[in-house]
Amino acid sequence: MIRQRTTVNEIAPYVQGAAPLTSQSYKLSSNENPFPPLPSVLEAVRAAAESIQLYPQMDAKELRAGIGRSLGVDPEHVAVGAGSVEVASQLIHALAGTGDEVVFAWRSFEAYPLLVRVAGATPVPVPLTADGRHDLPAMLRAITSHTRLIFICNPNNPTGTVVTHAELTAFMEHVPDDVLVVIDEAYVHFDRDPDSPDGLEFYRAYPNVAVLHTFSKAHGLAGLRIGYAVAPPDVTVNLRKVSLPFAVTALAQQAALASLAAGAELAERIDHVVTARESLASAVEEWGIPVARSQGNFLWLPAGDDTRRILDALSEQGVSVRDWPGEGTRITVGDDAANARVLTALDSVLTIAK
Ligand SMILES: *Cc1c(COP(=O)(O)O)cnc(C)c1O
Repeated sequence: MIRQRTTVNEIAPYVQGAAPLTSQSYKLSSNENPFPPLPSVLEAVRAAAESIQLYPQMDAKELRAGIGRSLGVDPEHVAVGAGSVEVASQLIHALAGTGDEVVFAWRSFEAYPLLVRVAGATPVPVPLTADGRHDLPAMLRAITSHTRLIFICNPNNPTGTVVTHAELTAFMEHVPDDVLVVIDEAYVHFDRDPDSPDGLEFYRAYPNVAVLHTFSKAHGLAGLRIGYAVAPPDVTVNLRKVSLPFAVTALAQQAALASLAAGAELAERIDHVVTARESLASAVEEWGIPVARSQGNFLWLPAGDDTRRILDALSEQGVSVRDWPGEGTRITVGDDAANARVLTALDSVLTIAK
């Protein structure tokens, strides 16, 4: 037997959202963007492809400058990675090792416990409230002298809930200032709740806040793998040290730059998804199926023992979703055809229930 790390032997592998069932079906299992790439973004990728015999810029200088301009932050406070999940991994590796603790809500993004354990640190999951929200007071109580990082997933994947500005302010007042609070805003573009905090505002107000953004969701670049953190400069320096050299390709960097320049076109697409989310949620709510008011590009049905029935009805319509048996179902907002299938499926579940 090859001797491998026990911690790694014991980790359950990351589960990818279910694949489409057939070519006539809809993959609503990974919160991907339903739109094809913007022409300007494809053009940037094609142009970058002319030079793939070369390594990319390792420090992503041009892109960090672009991100800095678009957010009004110093590019030295920006660190990029192969998806924001890689940046989350960088943060954990830079701050936490054996004996250190990382606090996060649960259920939340499935990568958190996995990445923490890979780093050799200890995951400290804090249960969500009964209505699927972060329990910030309980998260405060979970802080010990070993805590190095706290993840706040806002909006939360998979429940779609947000913390409020007031709740996060009260929370920050009690977090020790040598513990980094990472606000994971993967779905921030879809968040229409006026009480939701602006992560960057907290980043500016507190010395121990980092914000994670991704190009995978609203920007629709999931397949290119690119995301970034805005973090204090003494942290971003270390993120660069623990990152895999050249993990972010030139194609991804150029696509991200082109996407940043396509604000108006993107905003239209995002609005379309938000409108579809709201009408799906209202329909489901009217039928009396429990649904959380999601601020992401997905719906969360806390269906409990009914998840199986919902999953079967959706499969029958050719729709694959993310299912947590006995707990809930997460359905990504898709294109109009896919959303219509979701409504048909859920309608059939309700008809059976009647
Ligand atoms: C999708 C997602 C990410 C980002 O994934 P990448 O594709 O790696 O950028 C990060 N956090 C949450 C909560 C997500 O759902």
